[in-house]
Amino acid sequence: MNLKENLQFDKEHLWHPYAALKNTPARFLAKEAHGTTIETADGLHLIDAVSSWWCMAHGHNAPEIVEAIQKQSEKMCHVMFGGFTHEPAIELGEKLVNFLPQGLNRIFFADSGSIAVECAAKMAVQYQYAMGHPEKSKLVALKGGYHGDTAGAMALSDPDGMHVLFREIMPHHYFAERPNCRVDEPWDDTDFVSMEQTVAEHLHEIAAVICEPVFQGGNGMWLYNAGYLKRLRKLCDRYGILLILDEIASGFFRTGPRFAMEHAGILPDIMCIGKALTGGSITMAACVASEMVAETITNSKISAFMHGPTYMANPLACAAGIASLSLFENRDYPSAVKRIEARLKQNLAPLRSLENTADVRVCGAIGVLELKAKPSSDDILKVIRETGVWLRPFCNYVYTMPPLVTTEAEIDRICEAMKRIGECEPLPVVDGDDEFHE
Ligand SMILES: *Cc1c(COP(=O)(O)O)cnc(C)c1O
Repeated sequence: MNLKENLQFDKEHLWHPYAALKNTPARFLAKEAHGTTIETADGLHLIDAVSSWWCMAHGHNAPEIVEAIQKQSEKMCHVMFGGFTHEPAIELGEKLVNFLPQGLNRIFFADSGSIAVECAAKMAVQYQYAMGHPEKSKLVALKGGYHGDTAGAMALSDPDGMHVLFREIMPHHYFAERPNCRVDEPWDDTDFVSMEQTVAEHLHEIAAVICEPVFQGGNGMWLYNAGYLKRLRKLCDRYGILLILDEIASGFFRTGPRFAMEHAGILPDIMCIGKALTGGSITMAACVASEMVAETITNSKISAFMHGPTYMANPLACAAGIASLSLFENRDYPSAVKRIEARLKQNLAPLRSLENTADVRVCGAIGVLELKAKPSSDDILKVIRETGVWLRPFCNYVYTMPPLVTTEAEIDRICEAMKRIGECEPLPVVDGDDEFHE
């Protein structure tokens, strides 16, 4: 099939994320991707300014990762993790124990971020059960949060976000207001009142609090003050409830430090990692518990943790994870992210004065241009073609989360493309039309 026929088949038969079949905007056919660049079948070379949905930390097809996958594939692509273990899982486990914040060292390998979140919620409930509190089976989450697309993870994401349609099939949890205090402003104690009240009011049924530390990604690209997390840790300790930090987007240097929790100097009881774990090469995530949580579950009547995906600890993904962690260990990403942050701040600050700008925010290798109204997808595509920069705005958020290997010259080009989108004619604002889909 030629390019046109390929794209036509795709439109008719293949569902894409948050997209309709058929009446969907034009799509690019990706042919190859290396470093920061994706090459399309019609000859474009696009800088991947969103790291292919935030996972491609080392750039596309890092040779170290490709080689690790190739080598492992010659020996064993997969084996069930029930009844077997294998060296790639053990080696990745060892590397993670060294790389993760101290004390977080009981690892459950999951096959995607959403599944890691499901596991975290189940672990929290199983922990409370083991503590003699079977009635504690609800979580508190934050408005404006995003934790994934499976039922359990949807139920913890913003209750008014893109999943409202499925409200009836989701378990019910409680929500506190989104922290309003910005990452770059002084902490204000009143910001914590909603969380304090929500937990106090429902304490008898609450197992844990879950949130994305500092960076709320998929539901609003919001960057909030780490002071919130310090208060949250104290609150959870006071009431004997667990703190789950979802570092799937914020982990692996994205906000500056290895993990965003380091901005607050706190540790969770359970954390979720994913996305950049394998450097964007193969799907893999993990739910990691503290020794205390793991021991409590293990010493209880139901000592097994009741979860077990078919592809758990897939050896190819583990091999990719090992190679990816070596890169995270050996490269000076903290300095690279500092350079990216400075460049983003310098380039994006002037965009505050655009007529259609609602807000500009930067933290680490995250730059967000929030618009008052979004432009048409045709206009966005035109900017992408003309600038050679791949951006994927959603709702009113035009953002970049570039690979951590992106050069300053490339950051300049990315920011120029964001500016061009900010200057496009905005569509009329229709009430209730918060579109998450294409
Ligand atoms: C992307 C994301 C998830 C879901 O991960 P998937 O691999 O897409 O299932 C969960 N939590 C956060 C914070 C995320 O950014």
